Amino acid sequence: MEVHPASKVTSLFGSDHFSGRVWLDPLLEQGGADGLRIYRVFFEPGSRTHWHTHPGGQSLMILAGTARTGAEGEPAVEAGPGDVVYTPPGQWHWHGAGPDGYMIHVAFNPGAKTDWGDDREVTAEEYEPPGG
Ligand code: MN
Repeated sequence: MEVHPASKVTSLFGSDHFSGRVWLDPLLEQGGADGLRIYRVFFEPGSRTHWHTHPGGQSLMILAGTARTGAEGEPAVEAGPGDVVYTPPGQWHWHGAGPDGYMIHVAFNPGAKTDWGDDREVTAEEYEPPGG
């Protein structure tokens, strides 16, 4: 067993692969196909990832604020504290904060690292939920 102390976590400023300002706390980074990566991520209002996939899928637990997330061929949706957003392996998607406040989630990424493809930004149209 290992304890990974919170005091040893170094926040990273996510300049690549994000629109707007995002801070990442790498809580656990295991390598290999059986590994697990856990990140706590703080998004300023309106900020979001670029389009990407996770070879092992991804579960996001929203800790605070209102999340906006979307997947290829699906409308943008919102999620709130305690909600878990699951994305299956290989599905193109994005996630971030709603426009009116910050959002914090914890991301659980099993398996291989994130595939950012051609690093495409989420457009204003893609960011808007239907009727939003
Ligand atoms: Mn993701």
